[in-house]
This record gives sequence, structure tokens and C-alpha cells, in this order.
Amino acid sequence: MRVGVLALQGAVREHRAAIERLSVESRAVKSERDLAGVDGLVFPGGESTTMALLAEGRLADALRRLSADGLPMFGTCAGMILLADEVQGRVGPIVGGINIAVARNASGRQVDSFETTLDVHGVGPDVHAVFIRAPYITRVGPDVEVLAWHNQVAVMARQGRILVASFHPELTADLRVHRLFVDMIRGSCGKGA
Ligand code: GLN
Repeated sequence: MRVGVLALQGAVREHRAAIERLSVESRAVKSERDLAGVDGLVFPGGESTTMALLAEGRLADALRRLSADGLPMFGTCAGMILLADEVQGRVGPIVGGINIAVARNASGRQVDSFETTLDVHGVGPDVHAVFIRAPYITRVGPDVEVLAWHNQVAVMARQGRILVASFHPELTADLRVHRLFVDMIRGSCGKGA
């Protein structure tokens, strides 16, 4: 199994390290070419506006196609914004694939970033969650399962092969969320994808 990490900007190294600690090969994805042969793709945190601009063109087209084709994808923070079908204040998704709306920087300014622990459905209790100018999920479609809440706000969700989180599991030593994604990829491989 090989997991790609979109490597335009943001917490790329941290995601690759988490994946490799699970004994799974990772690959930095900088262009459309790097997508060949990946079994899943991580969209890291960073700055979603910058990532959207850097991806525009062939890479963004390829990402939209793969999302529609059902490649397993996992977006954290800015990566969640890329995968949301609706981004408040923007017409149309950046990549899209999960039927949620998100509000950018909903947890406030940089100084308002915070850490907490969450109960994550299917992952376990006390998941260490780092929020950095985090987006929040403001609408959830009927096929979307919310996996974690913080102060009555949805902060982690899944629809089929797409997993998103407002926070940054790659910045902690806790590998359980990455393990969930690797298990999702294994599940979809088993179904012949
Ligand atoms: N606020 C950033 C954005 O909108 C996301 C922050 C992050 O990924 N840590 O792109």
C-alpha cells in the first residue's frame, strides 16, 4: 500500500512520518504525475487558499476526478476545506467529495488555537486534538457520519471513503486516526477498488 500526501504546502512531513510509523509507504504528491499508483491520499493542514491556488489546473482536475472515482482521501484542517463540497463564502468546492459545509477559521485567530481531547467514534476516547485556526463543519449531509464533536460542533466526519478532521492528528504522537484511514484504504482495496 502506498499513501500519497499532497505536498504543495503545510504539514506534509508530519503526515508522512505518521503514515510511515504505521509501516505504510508514503509519497509526496506535487503534481498529477505523482498520483499514479497511490492507494489513498492525505490533504494536510496549512493554508487552504494557498493550496487551492497552487493546485489549480491539471493537478486540481486530477484530484477532483480521483475524489469522484472513490479514491480514499483524508483531509485535516485546511485539507478538510479542500475536500468539503461547500466552503462558506466561496462558489463551488476546491476539490470536494464529502457532503459537508465548512466555515474557515471558525475557531478564531491564531492566538485562539487550542488543544483538547476528544472521544472519536470508531477510534476511541482521549484522542489528543490540536486545533489551529480550525475550520468547523456547519452542515452535514444525510450520508455523512459525524465521528467527533467539540462544544456541540462537528469536528470530524466520514462519508464513504472520505475522512475529514478540523484538527491535526499528525502533530501528536497518537496514531489512531491515521490507523483508521489506513484501515479504510485496506477495506476499499478488499472491495476491488
Ligand atoms: N485556517 C486555515 C485555512 O483556512 C487552516 C488552518 C490549518 O490548516 N491549520 O486554510
